[in-house]
Amino acid sequence: MAIYNLGSINIDHVYRLSALPRPGETLHAQSYTQGLGGKGANQSVAAARAGANVVHLGAMGMGDDWVLGRLAAAGVQTSAIARLPDIATGHAIILVDATGENSIVLYGGANLALPTDLTNRIEFGPDDFLLMQNETSLQAETAARAREAGARVIYSAAPFSIAALREVLSHVSILAVNDVEARDTFAALGEDLPVDGLLITRGADGAEFRDKRSGRIWRQPAYTVQAVDTTGAGDCFTGWFTAGLSRGEDIPSALRHAAAAAALQVTRKGAGDAMPDRDEVLTFLN
Ligand code: ADP
Repeated sequence: MAIYNLGSINIDHVYRLSALPRPGETLHAQSYTQGLGGKGANQSVAAARAGANVVHLGAMGMGDDWVLGRLAAAGVQTSAIARLPDIATGHAIILVDATGENSIVLYGGANLALPTDLTNRIEFGPDDFLLMQNETSLQAETAARAREAGARVIYSAAPFSIAALREVLSHVSILAVNDVEARDTFAALGEDLPVDGLLITRGADGAEFRDKRSGRIWRQPAYTVQAVDTTGAGDCFTGWFTAGLSRGEDIPSALRHAAAAAALQVTRKGAGDAMPDRDEVLTFLN
């Protein structure tokens, strides 16, 4: 049993400056850090640290081998990550000023140029999960194949695009959205979505899971912590929640672990690098 995660891999380049540069202006940055990001990589790391068997399906440019090393160190299987010679690894140039305001340039690069045979080779089975976000190519065709094989498809509809959601929705078992994405989804498609389950996260207000078949709703409050950086909180939650299901946990238990993991994650700077492991989460809950 595995979680196949068809997901983006980004390098986050973070520059801190006293002010954001205006058009035509050149400014010195006070600091520079490089981190692992991309919603896909974040969710793979979160699910692997939660103890799931995670195979990442994605692509990178040449070089940047530290990224593969970091994924592998978290326990993610990296053998299905294609290396593309003519395109850069996806990345984000993130400028942060003294007040915390930011400007971001995102380049999808290899994430949007996945080789068409990348996911054809995967033999999905009924115990498997396919996890996806809206940052790579090959979404609809891969989801269709996984669902046909009986695998459960969990789709994180972010960055939100109603066109992308419409394209995959009929193949999705569980739709994962934050409250803003939920509102946009309901406005466009109504509340009666053709999925088995709906996961809605609401930041410090917690999360809920709606089981469409039974009509049951489980609510999970957020844990109270001192948040320093909420980047990747939703990815942490979705990764841990998926890992819980793949490990055979029931919904309340998967929700509780995911909320605890996300609470720990927001107390640390960074995205993929800030995902807690199982021991940390169990200690937090004790
Ligand atoms: P996204 O990053 O996708 O917008 P959310 O902001 O809804 O996702 O956060 C996802 C989950 O992370 C929440 O349901 C909650 O469990 C946890 N979380 C987010 N912000 C906080 C916070 N300030 N304190 C505690 N937990 C938080």
